[in-house]
Amino acid sequence: MSLEKVEILGVQVNSLTMAEAVDTVEGFIEQGNSTLIATANAEMIMRATYDEELCHILNSADLVVPDGAGTVWAAGYLGHPMPERVAGYDLAQELMKVAPTRKQKIYFFGSAPGVADKAKTKAEEWYPGINIVGTRNGYFSAEDEVEIIKDIKEKQPDILLVALGVPKQEKWLYAHLKELNVPVSIGVGGSFDVMAGVMQRAPLWMQKAKLEWLFRGLKQPSRIGRLMALPKFVLKVMASKK
Ligand code: UDP
Repeated sequence: MSLEKVEILGVQVNSLTMAEAVDTVEGFIEQGNSTLIATANAEMIMRATYDEELCHILNSADLVVPDGAGTVWAAGYLGHPMPERVAGYDLAQELMKVAPTRKQKIYFFGSAPGVADKAKTKAEEWYPGINIVGTRNGYFSAEDEVEIIKDIKEKQPDILLVALGVPKQEKWLYAHLKELNVPVSIGVGGSFDVMAGVMQRAPLWMQKAKLEWLFRGLKQPSRIGRLMALPKFVLKVMASKK
């Protein structure tokens, strides 16, 4: 499947539906090469405008889904409307839903101690028969890293979900992708926190009103500064329109 891409502030983002994203990822698993998937929201794209390494990683990723209302708005504003938002959390859930019938193995790496284990318990409850082959928290030293990579390689997952926050998860995956030899690796940010119930997701009405960013900002006052990324993003996209 050839997927259309839209360039937003120098970042190439795929234009696709959730169903197409799932099909694409399933195709990657069948092919078995090491692929990197990123979920680009406004904050990530803003960061990529001054973080060259992140920008390079995103533009060499195998799939970059439009995560967030800001990204979808920007594509439309620039004259390339996208069919829908494909949130990283939702994409991970859709993949877990079909994993049992496809006998796929999944590994959870990241978040505070205990969170990935709790997320695993939830996944087993929500998706009976799911095979989460390993979990590891996201706080580690350089020495731990050797152990972590060894464990992932031994467990041979089909899908590796990594929650170390942006841009750490993208940079870590990019650096170790070939060595890990996992067909599909995805940076999923706060997804284990949400699954474990440590963080709440915005209610559906707020998601539909495109206010998820506001909910996250209000829930975590430490993120208030990060809320400014959205208006800055909007202004920058407007200024970038030729
Ligand atoms: N995290 C981690 N290791 C780190 C930094 C962060 O495992 O060194 C985890 C953190 O516990 C959280 C997740 O990364 O579960 C994502 O954090 P945040 O919500 O800030 O992500 P973002 O919005 O950047 O995707």
